This record gives sequence, C-alpha cells and structure tokens, in this order.
Amino acid sequence: MKIAIDGPASSGKSSIAKLLSKKLNFEYIDTGALYRAITYIIYKKHINIQDEKLITDIIKSSKFEFIDNKLYLNNKSIDVEIRKNIISQRVSEVAAQPFIRKLLNNVIRNISNHLKNIIIDGRDIGTVVLPNADLKIYLDASPKIRAYRRYLELIDKNESVILEKLEEEIIERDFIDTNREVDPLKKADDAIIIVTDDLNIRQVVDKIYDLLNNDL
Ligand code: C5P
Repeated sequence: MKIAIDGPASSGKSSIAKLLSKKLNFEYIDTGALYRAITYIIYKKHINIQDEKLITDIIKSSKFEFIDNKLYLNNKSIDVEIRKNIISQRVSEVAAQPFIRKLLNNVIRNISNHLKNIIIDGRDIGTVVLPNADLKIYLDASPKIRAYRRYLELIDKNESVILEKLEEEIIERDFIDTNREVDPLKKADDAIIIVTDDLNIRQVVDKIYDLLNNDL
C-alpha cells in the first residue's frame, strides 16, 4: 500500500507521516529532507545553483539513506543541519530547478521501488511521485498557525527567530513552491483535504487511520 501526503510548509506533514508510519508499520520517506540536503550541500560548498554538471555529479555520487526516519548523506546524519531556518529560507529556489527535481525523483524511486508499504510526503507526491497511490492526503492550515508551529519548533532548537518574519517566509516559500513551472505544490484531484488548524497531530493521524480502515 502506498500513501501520499502533500501540503504547504509546516502543515504537519512529517510529524504526521512519522506517527502514522509507526502505527501502520510502514516505511516513511521525507522528500523535503532530500531537497533540504541538496540545498545544504550547495550552500556549504558555495556552488552556483545553475551549475548543472557539478550538482548532477554530486547527487549521482552521493548515498542517501533514511535510518529511523532521519536522513543520512554518505553515512553521516545531517538531520540537524538541514532543519535549520537558513536552509528553509533557501530550499524553494533550489527545488524549483527542473534538473534537480529530475535527479531527486530518481533517488526517491531508487529508495522506494523495493518497498511494499510506504508513506511519502512532499509537495508533488500525489501528482508526480505516486500518481497511483492508494490514499492521497492534502494537509493544509492557515499561514498564521503554520508559522506558530514552526516558531515553537525552532525555539525548541534554540534558534533565534521572529514569529512575524517566519510567517512572511512561509508565505514566500508557498508562493515559490506553488508557482514553479515543474511539479508545483498542488492538491491531486483525488486527494482528501484535511485542514489542521484546530487539530493536533494525534487527531490528524487518527483521521487518516480511520480513512484507511473505512474507505479502502
Ligand atoms: O517538507 P519541507 O518543508 O521539508 O520541504 C522543504 C522544501 O523542499 C519545500 O518548501 C519545497 O521547496 C521542496 N520540496 C519539493 N518537493 C517535494 C518536497 C519538498 O519541492 N516533494
């Protein structure tokens, strides 16, 4: 069984997908982590994002693995680095590059091909990565609520952030993700929308679990 979860920044996709994957004993692939990883490499190494040859070589020669829901790049955990706000501010520009999307979709396919039961989350999962998914969910929430959740997350990691600025950044990231030419953030026609403004993570997980048990 394959489950696709899409939605805008900080709509709760990864927290929900992680809990749901535990409950169902499914594998989970966080595609946003892969886009963040490439962004991290590009900025750490001061690479020009138009440098298709160099970025292609790097992606093709790197090993990406999810272990306990954390991304490892060439056997090293980079989970802390890729979650920093500086990466969130830059990732959408990187993810808008068509050649990078093509390469990462190959990475995602290589990781997921041999897995029977998986949850994949991102922006284009229901539309591009898993168009035949058994269940497609589109999570949404108001920018204010999403910014506040992100704020709490970052404060908890000792990052110094301003709530109003985070809200602006989230709106900007959604704008770039929704308006890029290739594989934009989009609800698949057959996706079920869950608005999470007034729901906690556990309630959303239960809702999806009920959908699986009742409707499929
Ligand atoms: O899900 P997360 O917020 O970690 O994703 C980071 C960024 O990666 C998104 O804002 C988007 O630009 C990009 N992304 C994407 N397609 C996906 C997953 C993430 O373009 N399938």
